[in-house]
Amino acid sequence: MVNLSFLLCFSEGGNKYKISSPMKELPEQEDLNFDREDDIVYGVPAEEDGPRRYQSGSSTTSSCSGSASGVLSENNGLVGLRNIGNTCFMNSVTQCLSNTRFLLEYLVRDGFTSDINTTISTMKGDLVKAFANLLSDMWSEGGDTSRALNTGPFKSQIQRFAPAFSGYQQHDAQEFLRKLLEGLHEDVNRVSAKPRPITEDIDDDLDDTQKAMESWKRYLRYDDSKIVDMFVGQLKSCLQCSICGHCSVTFDPFWDLSLPIPSKSGQVRLAQCLDLFTKEEVLDGDERPTCSKCKERRKMTKSFSIQKFPKVLVLHLKRFSPLERWRGKLSCTVEFPLETLDLSKYASSSSTSPFYNLIGVANHSGTTYSGHYTAYCKHPYSGTWHEYNDSRVSNISTSRVCSPEAYVLFYEMASTSSKL
Ligand SMILES: [Zn+2]
Repeated sequence: MVNLSFLLCFSEGGNKYKISSPMKELPEQEDLNFDREDDIVYGVPAEEDGPRRYQSGSSTTSSCSGSASGVLSENNGLVGLRNIGNTCFMNSVTQCLSNTRFLLEYLVRDGFTSDINTTISTMKGDLVKAFANLLSDMWSEGGDTSRALNTGPFKSQIQRFAPAFSGYQQHDAQEFLRKLLEGLHEDVNRVSAKPRPITEDIDDDLDDTQKAMESWKRYLRYDDSKIVDMFVGQLKSCLQCSICGHCSVTFDPFWDLSLPIPSKSGQVRLAQCLDLFTKEEVLDGDERPTCSKCKERRKMTKSFSIQKFPKVLVLHLKRFSPLERWRGKLSCTVEFPLETLDLSKYASSSSTSPFYNLIGVANHSGTTYSGHYTAYCKHPYSGTWHEYNDSRVSNISTSRVCSPEAYVLFYEMASTSSKL
């Protein structure tokens, strides 16, 4: 995993809290790494747990203050999150997910607890419970835009799952999102015992649709959850031999698509990024792959298309080049539609015509080395857009949603109903 190690983000003034006693009871494996102790906001003493708080395994420290259970209505959910030391990347992603209706309803209303995986999951449910508690607090009755919640209990669980997010450095929001979704998925994975691996290749005589289905079935043998149902799509890649014309196809699951930006500055359209992502690439010279039919290394063309469209599509705009950081950040505006993003051009099959509506954007402002994250999200019940800047939540007009700071886009498939 590439850590862009952004240095500082704008920390909010006035958020100085002493570490309070409940923190001392944290399990040993927690590496809290208080490298900036003076500034750390953490550990508001836990109040009595309400009836619907989810407790982590052996620890009582994962409870937030308050005893709310979420109320999903248009008046709620407009709650800020404190910056507890460069955690704007986490706050931004959390707000985007809090406004992702499928996930919100699953974690706050629809009883995910019966899905908790206690056998092969790393966290045995502690991560999903901590995140569900946070969302429940964000959606508690009488949501008051002047209050901001402490994300400490959730942070301590995500850093148990992904130690890279320990401490108080800035991190990349997209890497955080991936890791969080992976952890949530593990915690509610329907697969309770690791299956025996299938060693034989998928039968080459099957047609592409059958191959895609077989490949998806194989993926689900290991990874099968409501989180997968929501976020995972399937990408088809084709390698076509320039000599015999044989096309060898492979299908891979994806949690998001990382789109190259075909310009350093100025303005491009999202479609241009998608075009570049799916563009045919010629593999020649040293890169020549072996054709499975000719059994020889041949010049081939490689292309991608989308076989299976996820309900929630995450598009990551590659503003940072992890291998060439000296190039800095691409700060051009990528124009993207708020409604009816049409992806039929990128579909493997011409019979699918998927349309998506934008529901959230994680924004990054500043440079590669110093920056700040915010989120713009569409309220899932009122349909109005809000800006979430750590503890502050404010209304914004839709004309401001598309900005040069947009970094990770969250789209929801338009044709699906609210129920999975
Ligand atoms: Zn060939």
